[in-house]
Amino acid sequence: MRTDVLGVGFDDLTMDEAVGRAAVLLESGTPAYIVTPNPEIVWLCRDDPELKEIVGRAALVLPDGIGVVYGAKILGRPLKGKIAGIDFAEKLLERMAGTGKSVYLLGAKPGVASMAAKKLQNKYPGLVVAGTADGYFKDDGPVIEKINASKPDLLLVCLGAPKQERWMAANATRLNVRLMAGLGGALDVFAG
Ligand code: UDP
Repeated sequence: MRTDVLGVGFDDLTMDEAVGRAAVLLESGTPAYIVTPNPEIVWLCRDDPELKEIVGRAALVLPDGIGVVYGAKILGRPLKGKIAGIDFAEKLLERMAGTGKSVYLLGAKPGVASMAAKKLQNKYPGLVVAGTADGYFKDDGPVIEKINASKPDLLLVCLGAPKQERWMAANATRLNVRLMAGLGGALDVFAG
């Protein structure tokens, strides 16, 4: 059962529980995606049934930002806490480092994802980065081919919300990855 905040269901997990669930999804064969809606996305979902459905189909819906956590509290359905997408991704990448599991970084302006890859590999020795691509492509086809050729376990999709959520849902069955996470401006932060 998810915790309803203005129509969007959130998984009520601690950071460790969320990372643990993601680690299990990394072992599974079905392409799943994780979303981390902030209040703005919750609001957009009220007027956009398709976006709401896309968010609802995610394997994990994590409350990114204290706004959602406060909202849940005011509504009398408190969540365990906020799970900032960037912190969540770092903890998952730290856990993946040295296990042989690989990550592909998609999104942000040209050069940012490769810089983020370098910084993350310095921070988490043993982290396997399968590849990187910027987020300003016209056609999905060539990007998907490139991602599939590198066979990553995890794909970080950083195209901004709600573009990344729509992109993950639309392309899940074409992507040869185990897990995706939509993380907004995370690559800019990792590269920073
Ligand atoms: N972005 C992208 N392709 C696009 C539009 C945006 O790769 O077509 C990137 C942008 O460069 C930035 C990120 O998506 O790195 C969006 O960051 P922002 O913090 O604005 O997104 P939010 O976290 O609010 O969803």
